[in-house]
Amino acid sequence: MKILIANPGSTSYKCKLYDITDLPTRQTGIKILFQATVERIGDKEGIYSYNFERDEKKLLKLEIPDYTFAINLTLESIKEKILIEEINAVGFKTVHAKGVSGCVELTDDVLKAMEDYRFLAPVHTDVYITAISVFKKLLNNTPLIGLFETHFHKNIPPEAYLYGIPYEYFEKYGIRKYGFHGASHRFIGIKAKELFGAEKVISCHLGGSSSVCAIKDGLSIDTSMGMSPQSGLLQAKRVGDLDPFALLYLMKKENLTIEEVGNILMSKGGIYGISGISGDFRDIEEGMLKGNKRAELAFKTFAYYVKRYIGEYLAILNSADCIAFTAGAGQNSALLRKEILSNMEDLGIVIDEEKNNLNPKEGLISHKSSKIKIAIIPANEEYIVANEVKNFLENK
Ligand code: ADP
Repeated sequence: MKILIANPGSTSYKCKLYDITDLPTRQTGIKILFQATVERIGDKEGIYSYNFERDEKKLLKLEIPDYTFAINLTLESIKEKILIEEINAVGFKTVHAKGVSGCVELTDDVLKAMEDYRFLAPVHTDVYITAISVFKKLLNNTPLIGLFETHFHKNIPPEAYLYGIPYEYFEKYGIRKYGFHGASHRFIGIKAKELFGAEKVISCHLGGSSSVCAIKDGLSIDTSMGMSPQSGLLQAKRVGDLDPFALLYLMKKENLTIEEVGNILMSKGGIYGISGISGDFRDIEEGMLKGNKRAELAFKTFAYYVKRYIGEYLAILNSADCIAFTAGAGQNSALLRKEILSNMEDLGIVIDEEKNNLNPKEGLISHKSSKIKIAIIPANEEYIVANEVKNFLENK
């Protein structure tokens, strides 16, 4: 079975074509037939790279005016070796839709439900709606399937997902915690069990967008993001947790409309908001090296938030077998991991500085005295989406 996983970003588009016919059921291996990255969509100097299995990567620089052009480009490349008709489905890691969860066919009704919750995650939702609409035009006979990022968190109990608002608003509008990064956390849960036999896992997905998840026996039981992916940890440029009355006070003082305050909290907040320089940890670390105090403040605040959520989940899980780091910063920033896990020895959490500094692609970075294993596990969200789409098609 051939499944194309489409991954649209705000100015980029990535895709991978998987052959999962012979996918071993208990291993997290998967065969990639083709992969492509289109960068700087909307720019005169766009970058396009692609390669087939085992082939050299090809790199082209060309104007990439819009999403239709970008997706078409990748489909034309696929045609060099594979018939488009051979693609059984296109899978998307969709974000949020009112009343929709799980792995579903992206019908017009589902797109409407995505529109309904667009307000909660406009940056994420818009690119998906655009990409899905382009695929509907270009491949109108191929099923388009979405795995919603909220799905993995479906077992979170009410006491963990309810907010202290009148219950009728929960019933009427679905205002509650949903959680995101479901495919990533689910993969970490599977992999931590496979590699280390871990049943109780605290998964830290730290990147441009970040969240922490408490996993027990492969299921999410709590997570840091709430009704929208703007909450929980500080995000690169998004606010993270905020006292609702601080928000109302800010609106009153600055005379801001809902749209204005939404934009500020979505594009001028988070690590960027505190540091004043960037939402990218590489810039923050460079700033710290140069003695930039605000960069240090943003770094420490972010690490503190992660530590706090780890503490929460140690309490909820009654300790843990493994704390796993994944995504851009989780996998690559030894400094961040060290800061997060500093002074947790009495909880049985001891990082091995030497191993941590080596930044292994995958493996343990805990000291031998550590009761709880500490690991780096590379993200592989596409694996989860491809598998779910495969199951969906087989059980349709
Ligand atoms: P996404 O933006 O989808 O979350 P990633 O998971 O790849 O994508 O995370 C990207 C982020 O990871 C970057 O914005 C940066 O903050 C961080 N990052 C990537 N590489 C490094 C690195 N070598 N050191 C520190 N942080 C890094």
